[in-house]
Amino acid sequence: MLKLIEVYERLLAHFGPQGWWPVATPFEVLVGAILTQRTTWGNAARAIENLKQAGLLEPAALASASAEEVAALIRVAGFFRQKAERLVTIARTLVDQYNGSMERMFGKTDTGELRRELLSSRGVGPETADAVLLYAASRLVFPIDLYTIRLAERLGLGTGGYSELQRLFTSQLPADLELYKEFHALIDELGKNFCRATPRCGRCPLREVCRYASST
Ligand code: SF4
Repeated sequence: MLKLIEVYERLLAHFGPQGWWPVATPFEVLVGAILTQRTTWGNAARAIENLKQAGLLEPAALASASAEEVAALIRVAGFFRQKAERLVTIARTLVDQYNGSMERMFGKTDTGELRRELLSSRGVGPETADAVLLYAASRLVFPIDLYTIRLAERLGLGTGGYSELQRLFTSQLPADLELYKEFHALIDELGKNFCRATPRCGRCPLREVCRYASST
């Protein structure tokens, strides 16, 4: 039975270290996780840069902005009105409850409690919450995105739902924060370059261990 650590080692050998997340502060991670929903990271990064140039990439400033102002700046990320409302709402909650400090919010030691709090924000689903927990709060939580679901299914590792796949990763991987971050980034790299909706198995670094590839 193929083990996830072997998948990780093969991907790392092929792509090299990814060094995610390509933004600086925990608040930027949160903003980025919302902006990258249903678009590419490149578009999200351009929207982040626009917010930064406008001086809105910190909680108090974003909380004071209007959703219309924010929407105009993040247009490039798509679904911009919806995302703008979510960003402003989250920033206002952060300011009201934690004096604008994500570090204070992350002071909660119980990861489950923190996750429930993130999930209670409109527009924050399990994948977004878990990306924030991993990359901004340094919690051992593996985000399960569409690339991960597709890969697990094609490798023959599982076809379960979000929680089931997350348990699989948690049970098989060593408790290593940097490995979690790298592996998540490597899976996305594989998903963009090889394991797409129509897979490019010919030169994929997982071809030798992939059930889908051996059956086609
Ligand atoms: S061999 Fe094909 S199906 Fe398997 S992981 Fe690679 S691209 Fe995806």
